[in-house]
Amino acid sequence: MPQTGLMMNRPLLISGILEHAAAQFGEQEIVSRETHGPLHRTTYAQAAQRARQLANALAQLGLKAGSAVGSIAWNNHRHLEAYYAVSGSGMVMHTCNPRLHPQQLIYVINHAEDEVVLFDATFAPLIKGIAAHCPQVRAWVCLADAANTPAIEGVSSVLNYEDLIHGHSAHFDWPDLDETSGAALCYTSGTTGNPKGVLYSHRAIVMNATTACLPDVLALSTQETVLPVVPMFHINAWCIPYAALLSGTKLVFPGPKLDGPSLYELMESEQVTISAGVPTIWMGLIQHVEQNNLRFATMKRTAVGGSAMPMALVAKFMDTYGVEVRHGWGMTETTAVATMSNLSRTDRQKPAAEQHAIVAKQGKTVSGIEIKVVDENGQTLPRDGSSQGELMVRGQWIVERYYKSDTSALVNGWFPTGDIATIDTQGTMQIRDRTKDVIKTGGEWISSIDLENAAIAHPAVAMAAVIGIKHPKWDERPLLFIVRKPGQSLEKADILEFLATKVAKWWVPDDVVFLESLPVGGTGKVQKNELRKTYGGVFS
Ligand code: AMP
Repeated sequence: MPQTGLMMNRPLLISGILEHAAAQFGEQEIVSRETHGPLHRTTYAQAAQRARQLANALAQLGLKAGSAVGSIAWNNHRHLEAYYAVSGSGMVMHTCNPRLHPQQLIYVINHAEDEVVLFDATFAPLIKGIAAHCPQVRAWVCLADAANTPAIEGVSSVLNYEDLIHGHSAHFDWPDLDETSGAALCYTSGTTGNPKGVLYSHRAIVMNATTACLPDVLALSTQETVLPVVPMFHINAWCIPYAALLSGTKLVFPGPKLDGPSLYELMESEQVTISAGVPTIWMGLIQHVEQNNLRFATMKRTAVGGSAMPMALVAKFMDTYGVEVRHGWGMTETTAVATMSNLSRTDRQKPAAEQHAIVAKQGKTVSGIEIKVVDENGQTLPRDGSSQGELMVRGQWIVERYYKSDTSALVNGWFPTGDIATIDTQGTMQIRDRTKDVIKTGGEWISSIDLENAAIAHPAVAMAAVIGIKHPKWDERPLLFIVRKPGQSLEKADILEFLATKVAKWWVPDDVVFLESLPVGGTGKVQKNELRKTYGGVFS
């Protein structure tokens, strides 16, 4: 019989991170782009005080442990304060994706039973459209002062954040919660059916945030300045708002300004060393930097995920700009990052192209996470780098069941991700496709991700997407969408010829559609469903 360890059993709580940050790194800075434009500066100590004031204000509004507070907001300092005030007092911080369809937004706010919704002024028109359909919301709180809070026609219960917290005590006794209590809620941006809620526990978030600081993950520390471009409304901004405070890292929030020039300016003016975002954001940034012949003065490392990072972009960051790329994989159901690519000491001796290829994979699991790939019968496939099947994941911050569901989401204790992947002998995982995006042709599979990566390597291509189109003979065939870089005159024959040198002949798409832009969703992923709706016919 194993003995019980004789250590204190203190719970892992989000309030613990805040109080640690305030006590140990009180002077550390938080710089935040306000929704109305200017930069705002505060410190950890001040943010902690204001979070305690907000906790008191929410209690006075009648909210209790277990109540849900929604947010429809950018990455900014008030949103950060809310992250801590809400979860710290035992309530659930429900971050809503503002780019959900309004009907879905109404659905998630009602399903979560949000009693208060915090929003940024940008989203006032959205609130106007949905407020009447969310009867249990007793206050809509604009994350601004009175001067920057718009009146919303037909919505009487609009408050402003500064007046709400004003006059409240900066002391709050954070409850000693069970670490498995729900702390934050995020709904999947499902393309079919209603979104499903993932209720993260304090334990899951604190553990993930702790591993996020490790040197081979994000490597946060008091020496660094981190700019999370990944939205706080989706998967907890990869837990950076927690990891930064846990490690004492200076935080820089971009607010609503996510375009290349604004991000570049912020990176330079605040001497950002680490950033995190989806590939589409980095494409915008690199285009700006290239066009204006700029360099990064302080940026050392960028973490990227959410969709596959094209190898051409990895090469540009690493070789042209000397910025290391860390490519991670995760999903709403995994709290934040579950795997991360990294170059070992020996990898760093390899030729540049080999290094790019390693980074373009989704990498190794971070401690606390296990993965495997299985075939259609659930049999585990070998870790040989070529056997591909559905990726299964389990670990300390992986969903067990969706919010308010009576049934487990697991298959034999593992969460089926819907991603198709390979794992090699070293444990490095590579996402080959989503099960629903993979193109089945003549009994074989074409990876849409691989084709997109090949296309984007063409110097005239700004963005690329591939979908499968029904085909009478082959079942499905690939259709390629291209957005040209400004001023480029690439034609169909040029790109198909280029691809023929990069991929197997039977992978070369049957047709190419040139578009001005691709439909991109709220989490920065190309919405292939939209492309399917418009272009998904039958090849003859
Ligand atoms: P979401 O839950 O909306 O964040 O979407 C999660 C999905 O995004 C995953 O299941 C993958 O299909 C995709 N994804 C996330 N990170 C990556 C990555 N680094 N490479 C390829 N696909 C990714």
